[in-house]
Amino acid sequence: MCNQEIFNTDERPKDECGIFGLYKHPEAAKITYFGLYALQHRGQESAGISVNRGINDKIFSHKGMGLVPDIFDMKDLERIEGGSAIGHVRYSTTGDSVITNAQPFVANHRHRSYAVAHNGNLVNAHTLKEELEERGSIFQTTMDSEVFLHLFIKSLIKGDIETAILNTVSKIEGAYSMILLTCKGEIIGMKDPNGFRPLALGKLNGHYVLASETCAFDLVQAEFIRELEPGEIVIINEDGIRSIQHPKAAAHRSLCIFEYIYFARPDSTIAGKNVYQMRKAHGKRLAQEAPVEADLVMPFPDSGNYAAIGYAKESGIPFEMGMIRNHYVGRSFIQPTQSMRDFTVRVKLNPVREIIKGKEIIIIEDSIIRGTTAKTRVKALRELGAKKVHMRVSCPPHKFPCYYGIDFSSKGELIASQKPLAELTEYLGLDSLHYLSVEGMLEASGVENPELNFCKACFDGDYPVPFDPNFTKQCMG
Ligand code: SF4
Repeated sequence: MCNQEIFNTDERPKDECGIFGLYKHPEAAKITYFGLYALQHRGQESAGISVNRGINDKIFSHKGMGLVPDIFDMKDLERIEGGSAIGHVRYSTTGDSVITNAQPFVANHRHRSYAVAHNGNLVNAHTLKEELEERGSIFQTTMDSEVFLHLFIKSLIKGDIETAILNTVSKIEGAYSMILLTCKGEIIGMKDPNGFRPLALGKLNGHYVLASETCAFDLVQAEFIRELEPGEIVIINEDGIRSIQHPKAAAHRSLCIFEYIYFARPDSTIAGKNVYQMRKAHGKRLAQEAPVEADLVMPFPDSGNYAAIGYAKESGIPFEMGMIRNHYVGRSFIQPTQSMRDFTVRVKLNPVREIIKGKEIIIIEDSIIRGTTAKTRVKALRELGAKKVHMRVSCPPHKFPCYYGIDFSSKGELIASQKPLAELTEYLGLDSLHYLSVEGMLEASGVENPELNFCKACFDGDYPVPFDPNFTKQCMG
């Protein structure tokens, strides 16, 4: 990569993982590859596939840093093909971004192997890790997911797989959607009692399949069966599929509402609600809550697109794509020189001069985290001659960190917790700024009793699972 500095240009929030699993299929590895391809938006730092091939009770894996198509080629997939497979794409919220932390994580014990792929964040992992280390455990990675496997194998010494799973999940706390693969090819899907992260069950030509999002089923042409319930554990083996329940029940479901707002793909359906339609409904509600006269409504692509459609339809103001995305920009590139400042933002999105000049514009954003990108983009619109620039944000202000697997982990990173609305409006160079209210976000979700269904802690500080305030992701590093 020469010796020039490269850097990540993306200041957007990041989810930490996407997971996929397929029970006993002659092309399990190849299909898992395509499943991960569809889930690439959930993590771009590393990816891996682990397969049980029915050989010596071993699990075979191929992992690497980077994007799915860069990590695997046909030879890699052929080498590990056969049996059941699980796969993982990762963005690190816990543990360093290094190959040893790439998942699935595989452990060998008494000549048998087990692999796990995890999406979420265990809030008590640091305590459990300390306890395990005091009793002599040696950790190979800085991931919370390794804690799960240590506990699981310790329990397995005393009982069968089902007992070991129940013992393990009774100890871990926080957010987890997880898939475990055994050397015998069993696939076990688990969701924490609050159901923070999505995990769906499907079937592909008679073979059960699990995936973080239904868009992965669409690509591999699997039939969607249902979303796993919070606290549900599905065991898929030669006897078919069996569902057992987590020993502890949560007071209520806490599906991350930010999955709908930003993370998940719009073509996915989570817990019976399509992401595209939910974003559109949020945009509609935003138009009702914060109307303003303007010539056009435009999104900052891509995730603001759907809320912008809803806002435009409700307000009757024309929708325009005033910013064009360059689809061929990688995640990092060579740092530009000082004379090319703002290049990092402009290389990804470029405004259409003819649409912007002399117009009063409403920009729809899906969220504002640190605000620096939004500020630069607003400045670009002004420089092109926009008469007025209003911003409407299709979620409430992010004022609190997330401890359940999203990477805005300190209050200082969140501009809405640092600046009151008027000050932020001025800082971003806007004529007006409004966020969707918490009530509006919940009501527009179309879910009955939304207060009892969603986590919204980053907006209101009401955390559904307690955590050690001293806990940070660095605790595992
Ligand atoms: S705190 Fe926010 S981002 Fe984190 S799980 Fe809850 S809703 Fe999602």
